[in-house]
Order: sequence, then structure tokens, then C-alpha cells
Amino acid sequence: MVDIAATVREAVKALEPVSETPRLDAELLMAHALGISRQNLLLDLPKLTVPDSFIALLERRKQHEPIAYIVGEREFWSLSFQVSSDVLIPRPDSEILIETAVNIGAKYPPQTILDLGTGSGALLLAALSEFPGAQGTGIDASAAALAIAHNNADRLGLNDRARFLLQDWTHKDWTKALTGPSGLVSYDLILANPPYVAERAALSREVAEFEPHEALFAGTQGLDDYQIIIPALHALLSKGGTALLEIGFDQAEAVSRLAEKNGYEVESKQDLGGNDRLLILCKTSE
Ligand code: GLN
Repeated sequence: MVDIAATVREAVKALEPVSETPRLDAELLMAHALGISRQNLLLDLPKLTVPDSFIALLERRKQHEPIAYIVGEREFWSLSFQVSSDVLIPRPDSEILIETAVNIGAKYPPQTILDLGTGSGALLLAALSEFPGAQGTGIDASAAALAIAHNNADRLGLNDRARFLLQDWTHKDWTKALTGPSGLVSYDLILANPPYVAERAALSREVAEFEPHEALFAGTQGLDDYQIIIPALHALLSKGGTALLEIGFDQAEAVSRLAEKNGYEVESKQDLGGNDRLLILCKTSE
């Protein structure tokens, strides 16, 4: 019988050159191979045997594949989301959007929420979990991503309040499906984590080799998608509504300028790492 503690120790060593969290990674992979939680792995260690599947999982991580794709899920806002290489892995940095939405919505909770580029559905579904009276719409240009978002809405019991639409904002008239035939439907809260990485930016192997490029890259300066989304907010945002846009650490100035030019009052917020990460947009005049 192979000693499981020794196998985990060897895996930690093997992952040291690849990962900043080799022990956590090794334990998560072993727990996944056994089909149990990491907590139960640690509790039951002496009773367990190494499953055959472990070595292949470890091999994938050694090739820099992110843990979330190997185990097929990631926690965001204390909710569990299914993920695959069709969607970005939800980042802890993005939780600032939900935290801010919760603060802003404390007095007047949004009734309608729109998530532009929903991916796994993480932002929309986390927001719906906080606002039980709200209905949500998530759009994405990827049908494969929407299948994951749907599944996450089911897993979280939010499918009665979430709808997902295949929409590509690089196509003309993309807002029409969102504002309805009369053009009168609007949204109290708009969330967006669009692609915002500059084409030549240096990314880790984890991101560059495994995450979907169409969800990351946005032209030479990473601003292409904001240039479409920000002018479109006039049609989409309700009176008194707020848009929360995730931005790159060095984009606060450029994106704020774009938003101000379009008639928005802008405030920026930093993530836990102290980087500019969020712009809060409100209409200055009606
Ligand atoms: N935050 C992601 C990264 O740093 C980028 C996400 C995005 O482009 N929306 O890789």
C-alpha cells in the first residue's frame, strides 16, 4: 500500500517550482482524486490509500494548469462555481465588485441586474444571492461559457431569477435584445468584468496557456471592450442606476476619462492588493 502522507509530501516537492502554494495544491488534488473534501483528507489521512488517478492530476498541475480547471470548481463570494477552460477562473480581486454592490444597494436594492461578459456567471449569481428581490441577466459571446453559467445558476438554486443570453457586443445593435422591443427595459445595477488585458502584456503560464484569450485580451491597450461598453450604458442603465466595471491596475485614469466623456460621475476603488480594480459609474445628469 502506498503511504498517502508520503505521496502528498512528494507532490509538494514536485510542485514547489510551479506553484506558490504547493502544499495546498497537492492536498486539493489528492482530495479531488479521492472525491472528498480537503478537510476530510486531512482528518482521515491514515485511513486512506492513494487513488490511481492522482498521478495524472499532479502531472497536469506540473504543466501549470490551474487547480480550478483540474478540479472543475472555484469558490467566489463563498459560493461554489463550476469552471472549465471556457471561462475565466473567478478571482478574489473581483469580490470588490460584489462588496461595493452590497454597500450601494443596502438602502435601495437593485431590482434588475445585468452582467456583461458573464463567463461562469460568478458576478451575476453572487449579486443575485445578495439581492433576493432582483432578477438578473447575463450575456456572453461564448455559448460554452453560458452553458457553465446556466449550470451554476442551477447549482446555486438561482435559475428562477437568472437568464443568460448569447450576445456579442462587437455586433451592431447588441443592446436591443437587452432593452426589449420598446427599448424601455433598463437595469439598476450593471456589472462587468470584460476583457481588459493589453495584447502584449506578460501573463503567467497559468493564465496565458489555459484561460480563454477572448475573455482576457482587448486590443493593444486593453481598452477595446470599454470603448464599446461605456457608450452603450446610456441605453442600458436605469435612472439612478450604477455600473461597476472591473479594470486593470493601470487603467483607472484612461477608463475614467472615457466614462466622464460619456457623462458619468466616476469613483475608483482598489482591491485587497491595493491595486485600482473597480470603477463606479453613475449618471451625472438626466
Ligand atoms: N484579472 C485578470 C488577469 O489579471 C484579467 C481579467 C480580464 O481581462 N477581465 O488575468
